[in-house]
This record gives sequence, structure tokens and C-alpha cells, in this order.
Amino acid sequence: MKITIIAGARPNFIKIAPIINAIKKKQNEGFEISFRLVHTGQHYDKNLSDTFFEELNIPQPDVNLDVKSGTQSEQTAAIMIAFERELVVHPCDLVLVVGDVNSTMACAIVAKKCHTKVAHVEAGIRSGDLSMPEEINRMLTDSITDYFFTTSTSASDNLLKLGCNPENVHFVGNVMIDTLLQNLNRISVPDFWNEHQLSEKNYIILTLHRPANVDEVSSLVALLQGIDTLVQDKKILFPIHPRTQAILSENQTNFKNIIFVLPQGYLNFIYLIKNSFAVITDSGGISEETTLLGIPCFTMRNNTERPETETIGTNTIVGTSLENLRERFTAFLQNGPKKAGIPELWDGKASERIISILVDKK
Ligand code: UDP
Repeated sequence: MKITIIAGARPNFIKIAPIINAIKKKQNEGFEISFRLVHTGQHYDKNLSDTFFEELNIPQPDVNLDVKSGTQSEQTAAIMIAFERELVVHPCDLVLVVGDVNSTMACAIVAKKCHTKVAHVEAGIRSGDLSMPEEINRMLTDSITDYFFTTSTSASDNLLKLGCNPENVHFVGNVMIDTLLQNLNRISVPDFWNEHQLSEKNYIILTLHRPANVDEVSSLVALLQGIDTLVQDKKILFPIHPRTQAILSENQTNFKNIIFVLPQGYLNFIYLIKNSFAVITDSGGISEETTLLGIPCFTMRNNTERPETETIGTNTIVGTSLENLRERFTAFLQNGPKKAGIPELWDGKASERIISILVDKK
């Protein structure tokens, strides 16, 4: 079986690493399975791309479509045009897409129109919030996917309610958690740890990059000013996404507690999360990692497509207002962290399950 794997953005690289490891394992067991890795070039900044290939031992992509930035439509169209050319020259049995970025949707559409089967890893999750491009990408990708791999039974249920064939909906666990568990013994302390006087639990990690939080510079600054004074005796470490950096650089504000650092490589970032007091974020993937690591997480969004991070895990959805964040954070400081567990099958073996199922489908 010839699989073309698509990756375009930071969270994709983290998700494909264990899938590639699982394919290599099957090859060593004598199965006829090979892969071609396509990087669409959606993320091209070294800190969001190359670093992850190096740290997670992902092989160099066979091709980079080099699409770079653009509006939603420009980027989606550029990926489709470039990937169609690629697929014509290098046909395969299956295109495997992960997550919910533009590359996921664009390559799924191209594959399907070229009569190639599509597998979607992290299928079926839904926030119901169509103002987010990711939700549109999820819905469209799942509407043409052949093999669905889900992280939760609720994601599988969403697909079954849509009429997907139950034989093709597979609850396998979470590939992002595979990466986390495969690398926990490799995480490393960042160079700036002493310089910023960081120590276990004396800081909060902050990440923000979603348009609702960062696109309007004055509300972003107001939000950061509020977060700056949220807790008396904790530093706020903010690995700032290039998107947020570009917007903030228009406004030179000084903060008392917020320490700005570049986006971190995976091994440093997980070290920082694991030793933090709490995390404030608008990322979906990070709320899964904090759940596994048992770190309190406050999500600055009105909804989540990963409900188990809140119902089972450590996540609290606080909305996008500073008042709500203050209220929920104060309750946490007074009452301590909520009791949390780890969702079913988040055991580090999702990728192996996926590849075993695909090999059997042939
Ligand atoms: N991440 C990282 N360095 C950072 C911030 C995030 O390695 O400075 C990792 C994080 O551990 C998680 C992933 O990037 O695995 C999440 O990516 P992002 O927040 O961009 O995407 P989302 O999960 O919101 O789709």
C-alpha cells in the first residue's frame, strides 16, 4: 500500500511523527507499506516547521509545495493546485490527512477528485462554531473521507449521526498523545530558564493565536494587560506565535509579569507545560496535552471541539472575555485544581492502531 501523508502546519507535524514511526514498524515486520511525505508549506517559519522535523525525527518531506501565506481562499486554492500536480505525477492508494488546517481540507478534496481514497486522522470532532475556519475544514474533510480515525467516542458518534458507514469509523485514540508519550523522556529545559528565574510552578504558560483573540490590536493589548495582573506571584511566559507578534508589534506596551519568548520547539515547550502552574491558551491541541499531564488549562474560546478535555480532563472553557477568565481563575486559586482523568485510549498506541487497520483494509 502506497500512502501519501499530508502535513502543512505545526500541529500536523506533531501528529504525523508517530504515524510515520508506526509505518516504519510495519515495514520492519515485512508488510508492504510505503509512504511519501508532502509538506504543503502552509507553515514555513523555522520555529513552526523545521524545528519539529529535527526534534521529532520526521524524515525530510519528499516534496514541499511551498504555498506560504495568503487569505483562506488563496491558501486553499494554492494547495489544491499544487497538490493536484503532485498527485498526478506520484499517484498512491491512499491520501492520509490529519487535523483541521487548510492543507487537510484542500488535499482531501484533491485526492477524492482524483479517485484516491482519503483517511482522516482526528475525524469527527466538532465545535459547532462555523466562524472558525478549522470547523469548516473538519466538516468538508469528513464529508468526503473514506476511513475515519477518531480520538473519542463522541467524535465517532458525530460521524455516525451524519450517516458514515460504521465499518469505516475507528475510535483509535489520539496521535498527539502518542507523540507526547513517545517524547516525555526527551523533553529539555529551555536556555532561558535561569535567565528568567523560572522554577517549577512559578509561572503560567500563555499561548494565543486565534483571530477572535488576536486580530484586534486594542482588545489584544487589553486582554494581555488583564492577564499580566491576574496572579500576584506568578510570571506569565508567552511563546508568541508569529501571527500574534505581527499584530502586537504595532503597539509597544510594557508588561510587569509577561515574558515574551519565541515559539518554542516541541521538547522545550512540553518541558515548560509540564512544570507550569497553569496554562492559558486558545489552542485545541495544548488542552489535550495538559489533560494528559494533569496541568490546569484555561481555554480562551467560547467552545471546544474536544469536549473530553473539559468533561474528563483539566480544561476549563472560559470564553474570550477577561472578566470570565478572572472569575474562573480566581475560583481555581481558591478551590484548587479540579479532579481530572485521562480519556479512553489516550495511551500512546493510536498510530499503531491506525496503520494496522489501514493494512487490513487493503
Ligand atoms: N507547541 C509548541 N511550541 C509552542 C507552542 C505550541 O511545540 O511554542 C505545540 C503544542 O505542544 C501542541 C501544538 O504545538 O502540540 C499546538 O499547536 P497550535 O496551538 O498551533 O495548534 P492547535 O492545537 O490550536 O490547532
